[in-house]
Amino acid sequence: MPIECEIRDGRLVWIKNPITGVISYVVDVRGKSFAFTLGRDAPDPEHPPLSSEHIKRATESCPFCPGNEELATREVMRLTPEEVPGWMGGSACPQARWVLRVFNNLFPRIPAELTGGRNESYIVVEDPRHFAESPRSHGDLLFTGSLGEEHFVKMIETDARVMRLSLENEEVCSVVVRKNQGRESGASQPHPHQQIIGSPEPFPAIASETRAERENPHVWHEIVALMERLGLVIEKRDGLVSYASPIGPFPRSYDVVMPSFRGLLTELNREQTHAFASALYRVLMILGPLPLDYEIHQGEGLPLHAHINARLYPYSNVAGTLNLPNTLLESAAAIRKALARH
Ligand SMILES: [Zn+2]
Ligand SMILES: [Zn+2]
Repeated sequence: MPIECEIRDGRLVWIKNPITGVISYVVDVRGKSFAFTLGRDAPDPEHPPLSSEHIKRATESCPFCPGNEELATREVMRLTPEEVPGWMGGSACPQARWVLRVFNNLFPRIPAELTGGRNESYIVVEDPRHFAESPRSHGDLLFTGSLGEEHFVKMIETDARVMRLSLENEEVCSVVVRKNQGRESGASQPHPHQQIIGSPEPFPAIASETRAERENPHVWHEIVALMERLGLVIEKRDGLVSYASPIGPFPRSYDVVMPSFRGLLTELNREQTHAFASALYRVLMILGPLPLDYEIHQGEGLPLHAHINARLYPYSNVAGTLNLPNTLLESAAAIRKALARH
């Protein structure tokens, strides 16, 4: 069954998500009051930098900052600066003993009782740096898109290592990688971090995708083909395709898909891991410090993919309907252009 949608004069009018059934209507956002956007205003160069006293107070109490390791649970693994050659924090943290650090989440997303008595929720701290360079406010945090591609690839490799560890637990059958950036996206800790969660059964989001796949084994290829037809593809290379998705939960959602690879992050070879991580990173780099979340979905015969939701328009779907700004096409083109500049 083809994806249900209406295209008029080459432009999308509405589309039904074949997985969730949510219908997105494309609307003219100009002059609409709901079109207000989120995001960090460009730092005001006139604004005085955050005082060292403020920085000290924020980082002293942060369980993810260097020096506070004992505030977190026992360390699972770490990568030293030598192991992350592309790390750009050397001058800000000359004494750093780690760049990436993994430990169990103090607050498991799934009770340990359901995974054989082992906590299978992990935190990956992405960098010892808490704030962006010369922060001017408490919201001026380091963000993933500024880490550098090499560093991000190392992080995805580390995620795969953590996954392997989690999958050693016979009670774990599904693993998801999740990131929230910014308070508006639901991040509880300001310090940049990812979450990895092992579950005793497929996550509901994955289960829905598997159901859709069973009903139509070509669904992902159809989605990708439609995105190409609509001009929403951002990038297509190394077996990956990224596109601005008109069927995401937010008006600015993006997918990064590896259509021909139906497996786990842990099953990718080195080059494939690099290609997947780079494609995800390039979208994050363009979105910059914007509040966002991303989630890596895998397993159950699905093509490996990631969903990225930028919270530029913070509203989400209402009872299975979503208003989609008609600037979606221009936004995809703008991202393509920005990537070409890099
Ligand atoms: Zn911190
Ligand atoms: Zn998915």
